[in-house]
Order: sequence, then C-alpha cells, then structure tokens
Amino acid sequence: MIRLGCRSVADSALEEIRKETERFTSEGNRAPSLAVVLVGDDPASQTYVRKKAEAAASLGFMHFQYTLDGDSEEKDVLALVAELNARDDIDGILVQLPLPRHISEKKVIDAIAPEKDVDGFSPVNMGRLAIGGESFVPCTPKGIMETLRYYGIETAGKKAVVIGRSNIVGKPMALLLMQKGVDATVSVCHTKTPDLRAYTADADIIIVAAGRPGTIDASYVKDGAAVIDVGVNRVEDPSKEKGFRLVGDADYASFRDRDVMITPVPGGIGLMTVSMLMANTLEAARKRRGR
Ligand code: NAD
Repeated sequence: MIRLGCRSVADSALEEIRKETERFTSEGNRAPSLAVVLVGDDPASQTYVRKKAEAAASLGFMHFQYTLDGDSEEKDVLALVAELNARDDIDGILVQLPLPRHISEKKVIDAIAPEKDVDGFSPVNMGRLAIGGESFVPCTPKGIMETLRYYGIETAGKKAVVIGRSNIVGKPMALLLMQKGVDATVSVCHTKTPDLRAYTADADIIIVAAGRPGTIDASYVKDGAAVIDVGVNRVEDPSKEKGFRLVGDADYASFRDRDVMITPVPGGIGLMTVSMLMANTLEAARKRRGR
C-alpha cells in the first residue's frame, strides 16, 4: 500500500498561493478578501470557519467573519449576502453549510454573486463546470485533482469510478474527471447502484464520497489502483478523549498488504479543502480586477 498523505500537497499548494498573492499585491492590488458567513453555533462548522480564517490570515488575505444567531430568519441571511455581493472590498463569499433547517440552502447559495462564489456551488458555476468555461471549482473536488496531479496519478484514458452523486463532491468530481485534458472515462455510483463491485473491480481511480464507513475495502479494488477517500465519519471509540475517532469511507486497514495507493483519513483530502478555498479567493480577486 502506498499512503497518499495530503499534508505536503496542501502545503505546496499554499506556498504557491502565497507566492502568487505576493506577486498580485506587488502589482499594486489590495490583498484578496474573503467573507465567511456562519449561522448558528454548530461546533464542527465553527472549527471549519476558524481554519478558513487562520489560512486567510496566514496568506495576508483580508478576512471578514459574520456570525448570525441560529434562529436568524432566511431573509436576514439573504440580506447579508446581498450586502456582501455589493461591497467592493470583498472578493469571495463563503456561507458555511449546513444552514439551520428553516433556511433554504438553495436560496442562499443562489443569492451569492457567481463572481464571488468561491465555493463554486451556485448554479452558474456548476453550469459552467458542466458545459466548459471559467468557473470556480468546488474546493473538495479541486483538492482531489490537485492531489492526483501532485502524486503523478495518470487520468487520461483511465477508468474512474466516483461513489456518490452529491452536488458538492460526487457530481463536480465526475465532471472534472471527464473534462478534456483530464480525459478519464467516468462511472458514477450511488445508493441505487445494484453491484458496486462490478464498477470498482476494474477501475484505475476510485473516488469514494459516500459518507459511510466501510463502503469499500481491498476486495473491491484491483492491483495498481488509486483510492481517494473523501469520507469523514465519526465512529465511537471509548479509548479516545472525545469518545470518537474519524474514519473514511474505505476500510483503510484492509489495503495494508495490497499494491494500492490510498489517501488516509485523517491526513488526506480533508486537508485540501481550505487551501483550495484560498486558491479560489485569489482567483476571484484577480478576475474582479481583470487579471
Ligand atoms: P452526501 O450524503 O450528500 O452524498 C453521499 C452520496 O453517496 C450519495 O449520492 C449517495 O447516493 C452515495 N452513497 C451513500 N452510500 C453509498 C453506498 N453504500 N454505495 C454507493 N453510493 C453510496 O455526502 P457528501 O456531502 O457528498 O459527502 C460525502 C462524504 O465526504 C461525507 O463523509 C463527508 O463528510 C465527506 N466530505 C469531506 C470533505 C472534505 O474532506 N473536505 C468535504 C465534503 C464532504
């Protein structure tokens, strides 16, 4: 087994963003700026938002955080997004998901100006990704592409299987892998796929984003394959201080004696998302200044 750790991938991406940001500001542009909106006090969301703020600060980006009460009304969130859309000093807007149930995520995401939608979830950016054209690529699939490139994993002419069809991971991932220049032949599997193994057994690249531990194990995979494990799942573990540990969707231990490359959890794709958000924010700043 070859472990495809992502710490070095994320660090090298951040280093590149740092250099490009220095070049950008040395040309007289103000630093890229990111607005992050958090609604409510979900602990996991608070952690994600803090990591984004830390990364923005470390790159010298301007960063604005807006924290609204969990019982805020949908119209309050929409009003804030409208205000951020209109502000010239903000390049990128990220609304941390999930939102409280009484607020429509779709409406809020639709309201973000496409040129500031650094999460890439808006219909305009998803549409551009599907039909070609410049778009913000959602951060997790973008981080997976970066990881494949970093480790020199060939995609052209290869068989790729994406397990999961969500709008934030599975669908954009499949679109990226089938793009011209990437050139994989892609199958997308989901909960209604009758025989998952029939697809994975012959795949060169497997992206598993199902949100279920043990979705695949080594018996699903041929020798020489690359497995990218996107899942982040909590499983009870009394031996841990917090009472749980994080595992992916692939049964990592089962791959130990196999000739397979695999990203670990933790230490894998989860590390890529924040740096890709910073890349999108720099891109938004550049595009807004026509560079
Ligand atoms: P989701 O629940 O929206 O979608 C899961 C998809 O997997 C669905 O399309 C479903 O049909 C499919 N699926 C579930 N079980 C399956 C099975 N047994 N066989 C085949 N298909 C199956 O989840 P999501 O938002 O796409 O996230 C997926 C996982 O990735 C979660 O564990 C999430 O926490 C993680 N995630 C990680 C990052 C990151 O590391 N930065 C970012 C986003 C999501």
